[in-house]
Amino acid sequence: MLNFTLLKKSHILFLLVILIYGCSHEPQLKVYKKFRIVMDTVVTITVVSPSEKDAETAINAAFSVIERLDKSLSVFSPDSEISKINKSAGVDFVKVSEDTYQLINAAIKIAQVSDGAFDPTIGPIVNLWDFVKKVKPHPDKIRDRLSLVNYKDVLFDDSDMSVKLKNKGMALDLGGIAKGFAADKAVLSLKTSGIKAGIVACAGDIKVFGKKPDMKNWLVGIRSPRGKPEDLNAVLSLNDLAVSTSGDYERYFIINDIRYHHLLDPKTGSPAIGFQSVSIVNTQGVNTDSLSTAVFVLGPQKGLELVNKMKLMAYMVYSDGSVYVTDNLKELIVPMDK
Ligand code: ADP
Ligand code: MG
Repeated sequence: MLNFTLLKKSHILFLLVILIYGCSHEPQLKVYKKFRIVMDTVVTITVVSPSEKDAETAINAAFSVIERLDKSLSVFSPDSEISKINKSAGVDFVKVSEDTYQLINAAIKIAQVSDGAFDPTIGPIVNLWDFVKKVKPHPDKIRDRLSLVNYKDVLFDDSDMSVKLKNKGMALDLGGIAKGFAADKAVLSLKTSGIKAGIVACAGDIKVFGKKPDMKNWLVGIRSPRGKPEDLNAVLSLNDLAVSTSGDYERYFIINDIRYHHLLDPKTGSPAIGFQSVSIVNTQGVNTDSLSTAVFVLGPQKGLELVNKMKLMAYMVYSDGSVYVTDNLKELIVPMDK
């Protein structure tokens, strides 16, 4: 039988909740978005905030974090910590900042789990290729430099956070991991500024946190590798997760119907074969960025082995355009309006 008194009490409680909610004059949450060119790409920061001023302050602080990281990590600026390590290759240890030390360590871990498919010492090979000027290096040149690529030759001194490359001619290139790391650090900065929800997108390395003002998850698209930039293969509904895509359509040139792209196999010094794109979802951008590169370089068979071993959430587009999605990612895919 229904307990009438209880029912009444619950009604009163419900009414009270409505009254308190209605009278509390919560400032309206809005979405604020800004972009800057950093890390050689377009970085977009989106936040949810009740105040435009707070949003702007938080976004600017987060951009400062990314810009500081870029200054330390860029191989293009001669004064960066990475350039200093590269100049001292075979000679000296170089003391670096905590972030840089942490990132190089993270890169080596991914190199280990991917058996060197991801290798942050790929620098000497990357430097031979030019995807803007369509430079395809001579095979002899590639062969000469392959022995310089070996993540096991990165030496660490934990006592003063210094790093040395064992042999002259070696060079670090953190292009395959830095943007995901930067997204993580920028999200931390936003949270420290009091932001409860937002997105940091360093090109294809995207980290989301919290919910949209409508309390729904953020939606992030996975591009169709051979389509226009706005053509999507899938849409993911994400909550406190990062997603990165490594694709053969980002930086590439085509000669005689062969596509030469920027995801290089450290074993051959040439573009990796087998995928058009690999997207990885994980809690950390530093993992998604490096692992999407790693799985791409490993190719369909070994790449899937790594995905299964690490239980990664992965969306993979093979060379023929066919798609494989891991079961644990399927639940994050939302139906698209065609
Ligand atoms: P994007 O930079 O387009 O987001 P990725 O995150 O996959 O793509 O990183 C590609 C970059 O990583 C290259 O431009 C190069 O600097 C570097 N890279 C290329 N091949 C490798 C590799 N096998 N291991 C580690 N880094 C790599
Ligand atoms: Mg990457």
